[in-house]
Amino acid sequence: MIVGNKVLLCEAKKGGYAVPAFNVDNLESVIGVLRAAENTGRPVIIQTIPRTLKYGGIPAYSALVRALYKGNPDIAIHLDHGGDVAICKACIDAGYTSVMIDGSALPFDDNARLTKEVVDLAHPLGVSVEGELGTIGGKEETEAKIRYTEVAEAEEFVARTGVDSLAIGVGTAHGVYKGVPHIAVDRIEEIAAKVDIPLVLHGASGLSDEVVTACIKAGISKINFATQLRQAFTQGLKEGLSANPDAFDPKVYLPYAIDRVREAAEAIILLCNKNA
Ligand SMILES: [Zn+2]
Repeated sequence: MIVGNKVLLCEAKKGGYAVPAFNVDNLESVIGVLRAAENTGRPVIIQTIPRTLKYGGIPAYSALVRALYKGNPDIAIHLDHGGDVAICKACIDAGYTSVMIDGSALPFDDNARLTKEVVDLAHPLGVSVEGELGTIGGKEETEAKIRYTEVAEAEEFVARTGVDSLAIGVGTAHGVYKGVPHIAVDRIEEIAAKVDIPLVLHGASGLSDEVVTACIKAGISKINFATQLRQAFTQGLKEGLSANPDAFDPKVYLPYAIDRVREAAEAIILLCNKNA
C-alpha cells in the first residue's frame, strides 16, 4: 500500500530499523528505487525536493510513482523540504501521502507556528508531516554554523505542533562531505529519550555504514539519501553512453542508470534494515 510516513516510521521505531527516503528526479530513478524495494521486500519512502517539482511539475512525480508501484512492499510519497504552506498543499492535492515543512531557518516560535499550520491542514486528510529543528549543513548552513537540536526545544516543538516526525541537526550536511563529519550520536539518544515521535536524519550520503548503524541504534527511524542516488544515476548514465557510443535511443543507455540506482538503493535498504 501507499501509506503516510507516520505508519512506516512508527513500525520502524518499534522494530529498531530505519526507513530510507530516496530523492528521485525522473522516471528512471523511480523505477530503480521501486525495483530495490521489491527485491528486498522492505518499505521505502520516495521523496522529491521543491527544485525537482519545479523541474517536472508537482503532479508528475506522484502520478509516476502510483503508476509504477505494484502494491508491495509499503511505500510513502513524501515532499522533502517544503518551504511554505502552498507547496505542502499542492503536493497533498497531487496525492502525496506525507510532507515536510522546513521552518528550521525561522525563529523557534515562527517555525512552530508554520509547522502547526501544515499539521492542521494535513492531518484531517490522513497525510503525515515532518518538521525540522536545528540546522543541517550544506545548503542550509556552513559547517561552522551548524546548530545542534536542543533536547528541551525538541520536546516543546513536538508538543506544540503535533508533528509526526522530526528532522534534527546533529552534524550531518546535504551534498558531498569534504572531510569526515562528526555526528553527535549522543544527542540523537538524548532527544529520542525525551521525544516520542520518530526522528529523521538528513544528509546521510557519504556517512560510513558504522555511523549510519549507530544513528539508527540511537533512535533514528528515517534516513534521507539524495546525493548518493544522483551519483549512482549519473555513473550509470555515463556507463550506458560509453558502452553504446553510437546509440541515440535513450532506452538503450538509460537502463544502466536504472540499474545503478537500484543497486545503490538496495545496499542502502539493507544497511537501514540491519536490525530489522
Ligand atoms: Zn534534507
